[in-house]
Amino acid sequence: AKEAGRATYQFFTPELNRRASDRMWTESNLRRALANNELELHFQPQFSMEGRRLIGAEALVRWRQPDGTLIMPGQFIPVAEDTGLILPLGDWVLGEACRRAAELLRHHDLLIAVNLSAVQVRRPGLAERVAGWLSAYGIPASALELEVTESVLMDESDVVSETFSRLRELGVPVAIDDFGTGYSSLAYLKRFRVDKLKIDRSFVSGLRAGNPDSGAIAEAIIGMARSLRMQTLAEGVETEEQYGCLAEMGCDQCQGYLLGRPMPYEDFLEFVRRDAAA
Ligand code: C2E
Ligand code: CA
Ligand code: CA
Ligand code: CA
Repeated sequence: AKEAGRATYQFFTPELNRRASDRMWTESNLRRALANNELELHFQPQFSMEGRRLIGAEALVRWRQPDGTLIMPGQFIPVAEDTGLILPLGDWVLGEACRRAAELLRHHDLLIAVNLSAVQVRRPGLAERVAGWLSAYGIPASALELEVTESVLMDESDVVSETFSRLRELGVPVAIDDFGTGYSSLAYLKRFRVDKLKIDRSFVSGLRAGNPDSGAIAEAIIGMARSLRMQTLAEGVETEEQYGCLAEMGCDQCQGYLLGRPMPYEDFLEFVRRDAAA
C-alpha cells in the first residue's frame, strides 16, 4: 500500500508543479505585458441573419509575445481573474475597444461588443469608467455593448444592481454571453434590463436541418428572448446548415467562422471599409 501511495504521489506532483509554474510564469509575464503594451484586440464580425448585414464585432483580447507568438485568452484570462490583474487588463480592453470603435464608426454604423469578467462588474464605478471612455473617444453609448455571463445576474450586491441601472441610464447595451451554459435561473433575467442573449456555440454546433430535436434549446432561448423583448445572437455558426436552422427559428444575429473569424484590427478595418463601399 505504501508503494502504491508513493507511486500516486510521484504521478501527480510533477503535473501540479507544472500547472503552478505555468501560472506563476503567466502572472509575472502578464504584468510586463500590460506595462509593455503586448496586448491586442482582434475583431470578429457579427451579422444580422436577415440580409447578412455587417452590424458589428466582438472584441477578443490576445497577447502578442515579444517573439511574435500569439497567446489566446483561455490561457491568461483565468490567471488574470485569480490575481486581480483582470482589473487593469479589463480597463485596457475597454479603452482600446472605444479607441478602435471611434475610427471604425467613421466608416460604418457598428456596435463593438466587449467581454467583461464578473470581477469587473463587482468593482464599484464600472459605469463611470465606461462613461469616461465613451466621452474621451466621442462615441455614442449605443455603439458599445458589454457582454457579461449569467453569474453576474445572480449577484445580489448593491454594486452590481447600481452598475446595471447606471449603464441603462447611459444607454450602453448589455448582452448575456454563453447563455444557457451557466446555473442561473430564468427568473434572474428580469432583475436587470438585458438587451441581448448570446446563444452558446454548444447549442449551435449540433443543429441539423430536418431534425427539430437538434434545435430544441436554441429555439427555446429565441422564443423566451422574444417574449422578454430581447435580441438573440448565435455564436459559433460554422455552416450554412446551422445558419439556415437559426434563420428559420427567428434568431436575429450571428457570428462564427462561416462569416468571419476574429482578425487583427487592420484586417477588420479593411473588412469594414469594403463592406461600406459595397
Ligand atoms: P467567448 O466570449 O465565448 O468568445 C467566443 C470564442 O469563440 C472566441 O475564442 C472566438 O474566437 C471563438 N469562436 C468564434 N467563432 C467561432 C466558431 O465559429 N467556431 C469555433 N469553434 N469557435 C469560434 P477566443 O478569442 O479564444 O476567446 C475565448 C474566451 O476568452 C472568450 O469566449 C471570452 O470568454 C474570453 N475573452 C476574450 N477576450 C476577453 C476580454 O477582453 N476580457 C475578458 N474578460 N474575457 C475575454
Ligand atoms: Ca463573448
Ligand atoms: Ca460566448
Ligand atoms: Ca464561450
